[in-house]
Amino acid sequence: VFVAFEGVEGSGKSTQVRTLAERLRAEGHDVLVTREPGGSPVAERVREVLLDPESEAMDDRTEALLYAGARAEHVRKVIRPALDEGKVVICDRFIDSSLVYQGIARGLGEDDVAEINRWAIEGLVPDAVVLLRLDPAEGLARAHARRVELEGTGSSADRLEQERLDFHRTVASGYLRLAKVHNRRFVVIDASSPHEVVARQVRTGLHRWLPL
Ligand code: C5P
Repeated sequence: VFVAFEGVEGSGKSTQVRTLAERLRAEGHDVLVTREPGGSPVAERVREVLLDPESEAMDDRTEALLYAGARAEHVRKVIRPALDEGKVVICDRFIDSSLVYQGIARGLGEDDVAEINRWAIEGLVPDAVVLLRLDPAEGLARAHARRVELEGTGSSADRLEQERLDFHRTVASGYLRLAKVHNRRFVVIDASSPHEVVARQVRTGLHRWLPL
């Protein structure tokens, strides 16, 4: 069984991935936890290039291709072998991140981004996608609370936050649109509740694939 977690920054994906994996292991499942961009040695190197805060802004198409390239490596070297061994694979972000971030938010178009990814993943789509739904302002506030506390907010920082907020709003609505289109594999959960409540809803939502 292949489960992907999706959501805006600060939606609690990594916490929920960890909690679900612990629960599954306690129930005797063999579980592989992984993440994107990254998840294999080569893909982790691509991640460094993609997420390097010091580097100049990358061309959008280059970015989309690097995400797809890292994903191809991740699928061939890590995800597919684990699934073939009968493991439950839980991945923090997968193809839907690209459809939303590169396709919708960066404006490259969902169809083109889906096309390059279809080629990269050779038909391997998640059985279930857990979308942790959260107001992007709350997500950004969670993710950056500490940094803002340390650095303070000048006016240029405020403008930057506003731009980021607009981008993340586009991401959040893009996710909801995808969830509507692919409603059989999406499980949409309100991530504003406490972690334990969200974790319980994740388990309930995944019952069709993973009876817990
Ligand atoms: O998973 P995490 O929230 O740490 O992701 C790090 C960042 O990578 C995201 O906030 C997003 O800006 C970026 N990202 C992206 N396109 C993807 C996946 C992630 O722009 N396909």
